[in-house]
Amino acid sequence: TRNSWSQIPRWKSKVAMVNVVIWNEFVHEQEDEHVKSIYPKGIHGCIKEFLSDDKSLNIKTATLEEKDHGLSEELLDKTDVLIWWGHKAHKLVEDKIVDRVQQRVLEGMGLLVLHSGHHSKIFKRMMGTTANIRWAERGEMERVWVCNPGHPIAEGLGEYFEIEMTEMYGEPFQVPAPDETVFVSWFEGGEVFRSGLCYKRGNGKIFYFRPGHESYPVYYNKDVQRVIKNSIHWVCPEKTSGLWIDRIAKGIDNMERKDPVQPIEVKGYQVDHNYKK
Ligand code: ZN
Repeated sequence: TRNSWSQIPRWKSKVAMVNVVIWNEFVHEQEDEHVKSIYPKGIHGCIKEFLSDDKSLNIKTATLEEKDHGLSEELLDKTDVLIWWGHKAHKLVEDKIVDRVQQRVLEGMGLLVLHSGHHSKIFKRMMGTTANIRWAERGEMERVWVCNPGHPIAEGLGEYFEIEMTEMYGEPFQVPAPDETVFVSWFEGGEVFRSGLCYKRGNGKIFYFRPGHESYPVYYNKDVQRVIKNSIHWVCPEKTSGLWIDRIAKGIDNMERKDPVQPIEVKGYQVDHNYKK
């Protein structure tokens, strides 16, 4: 009998509580007094605090300095949504952890990448591009325009919201065209930036959200907090998300199909597939 995909154990049939992991490299807050004064419990601690009034979330945090950066296989296997904040230590994230996160995104885990996370290994891996931007730190006002008021991530927002003081990111943002652009930002100095981008990779949804510089209190802004809450629920796996093909195929040494689906006469010429030096 032939294998049926339906016999393969599904990762999750339905998400009741959402298991969220907030990952933060947690470097600026430990080495810079100014940043520490804004985020005394770390950026991850601040995000955890404002998310805690959403009772549908089970929230954990993880940081770079922990073993496996706090992202064990066991934890990631149970994670529905991973939030990523990094800036100066992207290079210190081990490739095996990036592989692990990528696999889980392909399987259906949601990924919410914040601000300077655009240059993280995992975001560049998922994009396949440099994800380069233009930037300047001059405390500009940012006006974040809502491109689709009907999008779940924009729920509860007005036509736009403003961040009083922030770092500027400008175009060109070197990413593939997104499935949808939810926000476009305008900065006091005249630049614009696509600041809320939706992607699908494998079974997983990815949302990139620009606001969140370490030396300004951006994560205390109520509209920024609302977007992060909304986007957790948007990237969360759908009922139908299951194991990604790679994990299903794990342990199968030879993917050659010896027998065709129905009997045929084999035709044509086959080269030797074994590479000999
Ligand atoms: Zn920044």
